[in-house]
Amino acid sequence: MFNRLSLGVAAALCAVILLSAPVRSNAQSYSPIFAPQSTTPWRAWCVDGYGHLVPYCYIYLFTGAWTYTNAHFHTDSSQPYSTFSFPGDPPGTARTAAWGQSGPDGYLYFYMKGSIVGQAEFACSQSGYGTTCSNFAVGYNDVYYNDHPEIWIRIGGSDTGGDTGHGTTAYNRYMRTYAAYGLYYATQAYVADHPGVNQLCTNDMALPFGGKFDIGSSTRWRSPHVEHDRGTAADVAGPGSGQCPVAHQVVASEFIQQCIRQGALAANSYNEGNHAHCNWASPSSYPH
Ligand SMILES: [Zn+2]
Ligand SMILES: [Zn+2]
Repeated sequence: MFNRLSLGVAAALCAVILLSAPVRSNAQSYSPIFAPQSTTPWRAWCVDGYGHLVPYCYIYLFTGAWTYTNAHFHTDSSQPYSTFSFPGDPPGTARTAAWGQSGPDGYLYFYMKGSIVGQAEFACSQSGYGTTCSNFAVGYNDVYYNDHPEIWIRIGGSDTGGDTGHGTTAYNRYMRTYAAYGLYYATQAYVADHPGVNQLCTNDMALPFGGKFDIGSSTRWRSPHVEHDRGTAADVAGPGSGQCPVAHQVVASEFIQQCIRQGALAANSYNEGNHAHCNWASPSSYPH
């Protein structure tokens, strides 16, 4: 099935008029969005001056990423992006630029393998008939901004943290709904047990469209923050946090127990010393 085509994702080539068009359309987009590491079928084609598909047309395909998207306010030459392969390629083939040829039906079929980083990307096709690019994104469209100021003080990011290159704390607090509810009720339960405490400090959850939450200049675009790639985890400040007023710091082990009562996985919820880390999913259940 090539439903991507009906969305306009498949890279289309049009005759003549596009020769003067910019190689990349100037509109990064988060729609359509494909999950990290997912594989989706695409196709590219050439159209002649009469609007007809051109069989056996040579097409040059290439992929790339927009910079500074999905709160990755950092870039370098190692920024990864989606790759593609042709039917018949050996398993694991990961192309970022290659020539192909449309078949007798006029289509060049290929598979796009999503990158691991949530971000805006593009794919382009070039031929003698012109150049066209399609914008898309990699990430998750089921994570939502999760903030309840009456019970949470936002910390982290460039506000109180060491600035991981992902902007203010407004960008680090996206979660899937069920995990967000878990964190909310765990907070309510903890607060109920601690008279005088009415707010806790929440730090990293996930980036706006999830995907790799890289931290540290030596681990750009990679781990170690894999627990925060899927919008199922949150960090809550404990003793010695340095970013959270003492009166709002939790007893980490106690808060983790509240998370677990609200569905967090014991095996994936940790006492990190200066914060409680709760995760409602195992990283083995999502690419990282
Ligand atoms: Zn980043
Ligand atoms: Zn964490």
